[in-house]
Amino acid sequence: MKALEDKILAEGTVLPGNILKVGSFLNHQIDSVFMMSMGEEIARLFKDAHITKVVTIEASGIAVALAAGIALKVPMVFAKKHGTSNISGSIYTSRVHSYTHNKDYNIIIERQFIDSNDCVLLVDDFLANGQAIQGLVEIVDQAGASLAGACVAIEKGFQHGGDELRRRGIRVEALATIESMSDNSLTFRGADN
Ligand code: 5GP
Repeated sequence: MKALEDKILAEGTVLPGNILKVGSFLNHQIDSVFMMSMGEEIARLFKDAHITKVVTIEASGIAVALAAGIALKVPMVFAKKHGTSNISGSIYTSRVHSYTHNKDYNIIIERQFIDSNDCVLLVDDFLANGQAIQGLVEIVDQAGASLAGACVAIEKGFQHGGDELRRRGIRVEALATIESMSDNSLTFRGADN
C-alpha cells in the first residue's frame, strides 16, 4: 500500500533494537481516516475468504483490527494480556514473547467469542519475529476455528516471522513490508526504492 509506505517514510523514526516508531498515526495518535483506508485494503485482500471474525491482541492491534472488522462487516475480538478479574467463563490461552518489551505474557480470549463455526482473520500492527501471530494461531486452533490468514499493517521482512508462518502454509499479507532499515535509510520490499 503505497500510501502507507509514504507515511512511514514521512513520519516514522527508527529506534535502537530495530524498532520502527510510528506513534503519529498507528501506535499512539491514530490517523482515523487513514486507519479506515487500511481496513478497507485488508478487506479487499480477504474479500473472498468468508471471514466471520477479526482477531488481534491488545493494545496496538486493536485500531487496525477494528478498521478491518468494520470494512469486512464482522466483529473484532482482541486477546487480553493481563489479569483475569473481568474474565468469566472458560478461556483459550497461549503464551507470547513480546518483541518490544522483551518479556513473556499470557494472552486470553473467552471461549464464547470464537468457535468452530468461525473463519478467523488475524490482524496486527507489526509482524517481526511472529510470536504475537503464532500465539493467536494457537488460540484459533484451540477453538477449532478455520484460519483465513493473517494481515498486518507493517511486516519487518528482515525478521522472518512472516516467512516462518508462510512456511507453515498460513496466508500472510502485509500492507507494507520493510526490507531493511537503519537510522538514515528505510527500504520496502517490492517498491522502487
Ligand atoms: P512479533 O511477535 O512478530 O515478534 O512482534 C509483533 C508485535 O511486537 C506487534 O504486536 C507490535 O506491537 C510489536 N512490534 C514489533 N516490532 C515493532 C516495531 O518495529 N515497532 C513497533 N511500534 N512495534 C513493534
